[in-house]
Amino acid sequence: MSAAPVEVPVQPVDLPLPVVGSLSPSRAGDFMTCPLLYRYRSIDRLPQEPSSAAVRGTLVHAVLERLFDLPAPERTPEQAATLLAPEWDRLKQAEPDVAGLFTDETEVATWLTSAKALLDGYFTLEDPRRLDPAERESFVEVVLPGGLRLRGIVDRLDVAPTGDLRVVDYKTGRSPGEAFEGKALFQMKFYALVLWRTRGVVPKRLQLMYLGDREVLAYSPDEGDLLATERKLLALWEAIERATQARDFRPRVSKLCDWCDHQRFCPAKGGELLPWPEVVPAPDVAEARHQVHLAAQE
Ligand code: SF4
Repeated sequence: MSAAPVEVPVQPVDLPLPVVGSLSPSRAGDFMTCPLLYRYRSIDRLPQEPSSAAVRGTLVHAVLERLFDLPAPERTPEQAATLLAPEWDRLKQAEPDVAGLFTDETEVATWLTSAKALLDGYFTLEDPRRLDPAERESFVEVVLPGGLRLRGIVDRLDVAPTGDLRVVDYKTGRSPGEAFEGKALFQMKFYALVLWRTRGVVPKRLQLMYLGDREVLAYSPDEGDLLATERKLLALWEAIERATQARDFRPRVSKLCDWCDHQRFCPAKGGELLPWPEVVPAPDVAEARHQVHLAAQE
């Protein structure tokens, strides 16, 4: 005769939410700009040609991050300029291809001078000697209840003695016209949503610093803004899922096509559509952390 089965108490297990999709501000922006661009970047994973402007953006971001390693009184334009060469060396070591963007040292010198001008622009917007950032290049991430993961890199987070959060992002281009401010702020509301969902605090101020024309675009969000951003992202992900199931990502022509690396595979530009890839990346690896990092520098 067998022994009566022993009843094992069931313990609630704190399982992580299954991830059904993953978005960063850049990839969400790709889909809103052009669904085919999203497909080529996020599903086909076509490589993007490095450009001297994009690499300069990465370099300037790196210098601005390092600047805050210095004691506050030393955070001057002159010190920032001395950080350019070592950061450029570091970048070449990490990504040797970037050196091939320049034909000779004279071109490199001219390019470094343009990066210095952007740094000088930064110092006209704020005085880093009076700042004590709480976080720099901070990876933020949340999985929403439905399983959509949001992730991104925040350039800088400042925390006031009152606990108020300020989210700061550096842009090496020029500020958008009034008609495009909403699009620019979308990225910041995305970060604010993730911070709110993970830390329970609505950031007090979102601040975009455009070093190209030395302008600041700032916004104070409220919970309503962030709920609307969440709804928008969920709707966006639904649209991406529908397009993936139908294998139908349509091109959307705009003036941004001039900067698109994939025109030769774009029917709207006379190119031939690439066949659907054999392997579609799983949602939880659709955009690896280092890709989020690179995209954040755009
Ligand atoms: S060229 Fe324009 S329409 Fe075509 S994929 Fe690129 S962004 Fe989209």
